[in-house]
Amino acid sequence: MPTPSISLRAFGRAEDLDIALDVDLLQADRPALVTALLDCCGGKSNAAFWWSRPVGVRIGALLRLVALTEETDTLGVVLRCVQADCGERFEVELPLAELMARAPAERDARGEHLRIALPGGRFATLRLPTGDDLRDWRTRPHASTADAVAAVIDTLRLDGDLQPGDAAALAEAIAAHDPLVAFSVASTCPACGAEDELPVDLEGLALHRLAQRQRGLLLDVHQLASHYGWTEEQALAVPPRRRARYIALIDNDAGGGLP
Ligand SMILES: [Zn+2]
Repeated sequence: MPTPSISLRAFGRAEDLDIALDVDLLQADRPALVTALLDCCGGKSNAAFWWSRPVGVRIGALLRLVALTEETDTLGVVLRCVQADCGERFEVELPLAELMARAPAERDARGEHLRIALPGGRFATLRLPTGDDLRDWRTRPHASTADAVAAVIDTLRLDGDLQPGDAAALAEAIAAHDPLVAFSVASTCPACGAEDELPVDLEGLALHRLAQRQRGLLLDVHQLASHYGWTEEQALAVPPRRRARYIALIDNDAGGGLP
């Protein structure tokens, strides 16, 4: 179950326009963006709390923010068939409630650790990665992927006799326990019929949707300010549904009146 104790409001207030979402998400400091969004829409003053949450809890909360903001219960995602001679792009709708329910439970977030069986009768105990870990790893670039993976495992390892070659089994165990982090969706390509497990960057998708929302809000304010002379504060004080009706009226004026 997700964590019902964490309260969030919809994204869309004046202060939300200050969060720098108009960036290239591939280059962006995503951990900082996610924390800023959750902190802003979670009442502010609790950034340390959000940094300390497991990555999957943060993604689950970000998805809840999209659901609240867009008043939707599904998330559309465009997938691309991985078959070499196909490459078809197709869209699927992911049910948000089901996704959010897959975030780690709060008891795990508080420190229920993963005990992982390894070859040769060995065991290792790991904790789940948190926002603080992501922030820390970003500041310490590594020469190779193998070095980076070793550093990650070293941070998360609580005990256990690990050997080179355990990384894949450990990553698999974490992914199974915290499925939103390395999320994938089983799909059938509508063009070639291939059945594949396709990766979905849920965090990137949610950030993209909220960035779109922010651009939309700026446009709304621009239109309402230009047309009615409202201030930013006045424009954003109008509830979203009513604001959309004013924008439609302005668009109708610009287009020569109602059809
Ligand atoms: Zn295909």
